[in-house]
Amino acid sequence: MNVSDSEKIAGLLQPLGYGLTADPSSADLIILNTCSVRAKAEEKVYGHLGRYKPLKQERPHLLLAVGGCVAQQEGERLLRKVPFLDLVFGTHNLHLLPEMVRAAEQGERRVETGFMDRDERLDLFPVDAQQGGITRFVTVMQGCDNFCSYCIVPYVRGREISRRSAEILAEIRGMAEQGVREVTLLGQNVNSYGLKGESDINFAALLRAVSAIDGIERIRFTTSHPKDISSALIDCLADLPKLCSHIHLPAQSGSDRVLTRMRRGYTRDQYLEKVALLRAARPGLQITGDMIVGFPGEDDGEFRETLALMEEVRYADLFSFMYSPRPGTEAAGYDGMIPRAEKQARLAELQALQRTVTAETNRSLVGTVQTLLVEGVSKKDGQVYGRTSGNRIVNFTGHRSLIGSFVEATISRAYQNSLLGELR
Ligand code: SF4
Repeated sequence: MNVSDSEKIAGLLQPLGYGLTADPSSADLIILNTCSVRAKAEEKVYGHLGRYKPLKQERPHLLLAVGGCVAQQEGERLLRKVPFLDLVFGTHNLHLLPEMVRAAEQGERRVETGFMDRDERLDLFPVDAQQGGITRFVTVMQGCDNFCSYCIVPYVRGREISRRSAEILAEIRGMAEQGVREVTLLGQNVNSYGLKGESDINFAALLRAVSAIDGIERIRFTTSHPKDISSALIDCLADLPKLCSHIHLPAQSGSDRVLTRMRRGYTRDQYLEKVALLRAARPGLQITGDMIVGFPGEDDGEFRETLALMEEVRYADLFSFMYSPRPGTEAAGYDGMIPRAEKQARLAELQALQRTVTAETNRSLVGTVQTLLVEGVSKKDGQVYGRTSGNRIVNFTGHRSLIGSFVEATISRAYQNSLLGELR
């Protein structure tokens, strides 16, 4: 979501004459787009701002801004603590950014962290602002109503809201006309799209409508909540060839007791049942996930249930984290906090297992023929890279003129994070 938001910010500020630079020392405006889902996000923001202070002293016209979840949480406090900071904007205030930047150019320091009401949110849904390219993100819903006990998202991103389907489809049709071949539908809880009544259609119907758009050849979506994987969505995987063979389906734990305390809304068996149904609908489906280790009260046996779940699901890749309390969430007040050293040991064991599974999954693709959408030039001279339907990166010898097209490649070697292929 934050990558997508950063792209929207860049698009919003383009008409004001601001473009992207990779060199902070030449920037006229530096925006820290923050996320507070993980621990120490606030400290990191203060640390980054401290590093930019000398730049601000050398070039007083440089504007510094903080947006996103930390801005939403800290608000006014950020401006008070950091006297050289110019702007703070929350998760519902992207649309105000151009006028805030114009005001800051005139010396006004400003904070905007208000939440919009539902109608305003629907009318001001932040749209994709990228130009060019063959793959794009499309935000279809925002916020979350699940209130998992460890998660800050419902507090900093607000309640769940689904964008009007007609607007989504019009935006994607426009992208297709510009040459976009692949879209990723985005939302904190993307597969609960339409369940709260703002949209006339549900997520499965939205996927079918996107699939009917000429020119769009691939559709991805993220992030899916296991409890909202419906039979209609599973049918889409069976019926829609444009839908990619990959789903990100965070389990977070393999223990029922931990899942209950996390308030995830499913059991281990229900999760595994969804995985089996998805794989039956789309043989070869690649599944990635998220896991939290060291949740309060998690004992060694429960941690081992997580490892066993990983062995059973065989994730192509896994994002794994040590639990850290987020102030204001329910779990932050739970008993049974796990010592850091224990959490580190569990994380290391879990990541070692995942490295093995990822390597085996990658190796199992050697000798197969994959259809790749060629996305760019590889680091190695003379090579370009493309992405499989299952979301694996494949480097191969080829000309950059292939970028934007679909090619067939035979996988010749597997590495930990990528594959090597040969054009057919
Ligand atoms: S589903 Fe749970 S973990 Fe995901 S954003 Fe919502 S509250 Fe957070």
